Amino acid sequence: MERLYQNKPVNIAIVGAGPSGVYCALNILQMFKQINFDNYLLTIFEKGKILHTLLPTGGTRCNITNSKEDIKEFCSNYPRGEKFLYSLFSRYSNFETIEFFNSIGVETYVESDGRVFPKSNSSKDVREKMLNKLFSYKNVKIIKKQINHKQELDSYDKIVISIGSRSGYNLITEFNHTYIPFKKALCALVVDDFKYPKGVSVKALDGDFLFTNNGISGPLAYKISSINAYKDFPYEIKIKLFCEDYLIEETKKFPKKSIINVLSKFIPKSLASVILPYPKKNCAEISQKELISYSTLKLKIISTSNKGEIVHAGGLKLGEADKNCKSKINNNLWYCGEILDIDGFCGGFNLQNCWSGAYVVAKDIVSSIIDI
Ligand SMILES: Cc1cc2nc3c(=O)[nH]c(=O)nc-3n(C[C@H](O)[C@H](O)[C@H](O)COP(=O)(O)OP(=O)(O)OC[C@H]3O[C@@H](n4cnc5c(N)ncnc54)[C@H](O)[C@@H]3O)c2cc1C
Repeated sequence: MERLYQNKPVNIAIVGAGPSGVYCALNILQMFKQINFDNYLLTIFEKGKILHTLLPTGGTRCNITNSKEDIKEFCSNYPRGEKFLYSLFSRYSNFETIEFFNSIGVETYVESDGRVFPKSNSSKDVREKMLNKLFSYKNVKIIKKQINHKQELDSYDKIVISIGSRSGYNLITEFNHTYIPFKKALCALVVDDFKYPKGVSVKALDGDFLFTNNGISGPLAYKISSINAYKDFPYEIKIKLFCEDYLIEETKKFPKKSIINVLSKFIPKSLASVILPYPKKNCAEISQKELISYSTLKLKIISTSNKGEIVHAGGLKLGEADKNCKSKINNNLWYCGEILDIDGFCGGFNLQNCWSGAYVVAKDIVSSIIDI
């Protein structure tokens, strides 16, 4: 072990105490402790309440990560950042994250769809456990302050920016990096000429969604919003509701039944009555072409909803960070979490981006101070 900094304490700054900033701090502190190094001071700048952005996650249950084992499959859940994450996840995976949380007293369980939650089902509990661990270390200081300019960080030897993509513009550009303008991703969508049954949930072949007052929300809507985050409005989407073969088969079995009764076996009756031009017609009277058309819902999306989004696309251009999330332009500068132009679908993928990036940054910072 060789000390690259001899006498003066190393001053490390982390800007933003969301999940990525705090996880990065916890890992730096743990790594230094493991090698008995204490000639440093870690300062965390947070403009609001520390880890407040963790509280609403997973509907306050905190979907910490996803249990998918295959890294390639895991990465396919990120419309932006897939390749970059492959390298991060190869070095620090969802399983290492779960181990870390277990080690600080957060036990976890896996839902049937692969989402991982704390056994307490409480994001407040996860926040508390992370903060208890953080406050158990000495050389750490938390300052309630908004950092607006890079000059405010001049006295620090190592700097981590983890402020999320929405508020990243100032710092990213002052550090001469390219800022990809943020867009809402994982949000509800507004539908043109909205005539659908409000509040009704649909289990479609493509995924689950529900009709809001003016559009669609729910997992499938979020996924569509994420994939199309940078598409101009309006755009058209097609949702496959069910397999048309089953409807055709059913109409053959019951030619005298009204089409609305048969179609209602596949989708909610209130939706069937909007889709069907003549709901009372008998099945035998409907052409096969028409039957097939009922299996797909075509919608014109005119905007994202102005009600709460889950994640933002955009942020630091990925080509300007190396595989350790270190700036290729400024020495001693790192980025982690949502501030990078990375965003994933629902299912614990966005937090996993924070955990893996934060760990890799922590390791790179520690290695740049102590040759381990
Ligand atoms: C309602 C909701 C539910 C979600 N649920 C889940 C889920 O269950 N699972 C999942 O994987 N993801 C979920 N997400 C996404 C996840 O919360 C984010 O991806 C994650 O919080 C990003 O963490 P971050 O630390 O990179 O940035 P942020 O969480 O945005 O934290 C940045 C921090 O920096 C501070 N800050 C900003 N600018 C400055 C500045 N200039 N100076 C000082 N401090 C600053 C902010 O106050 C904030 O505390 C959810 C998001 C929302 C909104």
